[in-house]
Amino acid sequence: VWENCLKVIRQHTSDQSFKTWFEPVMPYKLNGKKLIIQVPSQFFYEWLEDNYVELLRKALDYSIGPDGQLEYSIVVDRGDKVNNRPPQSQSVGTNNNSNNNSGNNNSYGNNSNNNTPKYQRNDYQRNNYNTPNQEPKQVKSPFELRDLNALQSDSFLNRSYSFDNFIEGDCNRLARAASFAVAEKPSVTSFNPLMIYGGVGLGKTHLVQAIGNFIKNNSLSEKFVLYVSSEKFTSQFINSIKNNSLQDFMSFYMQVDVLIIDDVQFLSGKEKTQETFFHIFNHLHQSGKQIVMTSDRPPRDLEGMEDRLLSRFKWGLTADLQSPDLETRIAIIQKKLQHEGVEIDFEVIEYLAHSIDSNVRELEGVMISLIAQASLTQKTIDLELAKRTLNHIVTESEKEVNIDTIIGVVTEHFQVRIADLKSKSRLRSIVIPRQVAMYLAKEMTNLSLKSIGYHFGGRDHSTVIHAIQTVNDLMDTDKEMNNTVHKLSQKFKK
Ligand code: ADP
Ligand code: MG
Repeated sequence: VWENCLKVIRQHTSDQSFKTWFEPVMPYKLNGKKLIIQVPSQFFYEWLEDNYVELLRKALDYSIGPDGQLEYSIVVDRGDKVNNRPPQSQSVGTNNNSNNNSGNNNSYGNNSNNNTPKYQRNDYQRNNYNTPNQEPKQVKSPFELRDLNALQSDSFLNRSYSFDNFIEGDCNRLARAASFAVAEKPSVTSFNPLMIYGGVGLGKTHLVQAIGNFIKNNSLSEKFVLYVSSEKFTSQFINSIKNNSLQDFMSFYMQVDVLIIDDVQFLSGKEKTQETFFHIFNHLHQSGKQIVMTSDRPPRDLEGMEDRLLSRFKWGLTADLQSPDLETRIAIIQKKLQHEGVEIDFEVIEYLAHSIDSNVRELEGVMISLIAQASLTQKTIDLELAKRTLNHIVTESEKEVNIDTIIGVVTEHFQVRIADLKSKSRLRSIVIPRQVAMYLAKEMTNLSLKSIGYHFGGRDHSTVIHAIQTVNDLMDTDKEMNNTVHKLSQKFKK
């Protein structure tokens, strides 16, 4: 019966679609006029229902007659080969008359008609039950028409991201450990999906690319690893709609063994793309494939994201990346220097680590620029060069005010020396400018209290808190002080 169905289907579909969507389907049983077919996943079932209802109806008409019915049986566990025993039927459809609460009323036809179906037992037996869920092969890429082998070797991974050059610290320990576990045993850990989130430049892309590289380098069996940014995924999806190749797009993604999708916050508000991703996600997950995602915020803060998708994100593990702590920043600088073959005094390293506080990408930018300047001007990297470079870069980015600039402006205004601010002096004429400078540093930069303290002669964070409170109080009670602080802070705002 199914063979007869396939005859009809083959006539009405492209080779590509036939291979992808109908070859993996196995006939399972014929109950009177009801044909039960076995499909590899829930997604498969939905796709057939959404895209091939009419064709299937036509095929049933031909092979059984107008009262022929169709039911789906979904293979649950892909790894589990079904050996001449009934498949685990998670969601075997019922006929049209019964009530199916799951909403998957996946059968056709209810006409009473006395046409007996042409039931050909041979056809039914000829199919090989040992491979009920074989993968469709040779699917074209949705974006460029290349063969799958070529694509599998092209995972869009950047080889320079590895676990070896990812510095571990308290700020990233869980995320790193989870990533490494997934890299060692993709799909085997319960971290599926693995979702890494954290602010800009904290190492999300680095970590997930390291997973991909590790799997490519260490897997015993060839794995199809794919890294894709959410932007790229979205534009591929849109193109596939334009080019009428959505099916190719879907089939392509369904064959990935390890899907790494970066910056999923970008999918916010893009309903259709999310829906498609949801289907791909489900299919891969059900097929025991690994999914890794990143986001710039925790799932609960992803606005414009469908609830059903968000709830999927929670199935696995969510781990965050925090801003690197001081020790980690120092280690990152040292690693970078080592990589570039450059040596500098620890004093300079400490200065840098205390001056760029939030973001590893910025830290790296400063290092690169510093190393470049030193080699161009043939100078050694000393504290002075570091300060000048930093000044230059931070004012250039115009995001933050540089702390040395603040100290410069404040000392000029109060007519004190920079060394005074950093000294132990308790003179009121020095304490006040020092406290104002600390206050402004807190207001105008992203530096931590600890790092602010460092720039004022190595004071601890409680001294900085005290300074900030004092200035706040003074501004409430002392009009002149209030004016001064406002005037000074205006100087930094363009
Ligand atoms: P994100 O994707 O979170 O915006 P990236 O992964 O692009 O951040 O990281 C920015 C830069 O900082 C990259 O060059 C990356 O190699 C580097 N980086 C981030 N965290 C670390 C770390 N813990 N150790 C070493 N390098 C890091
Ligand atoms: Mg990134």
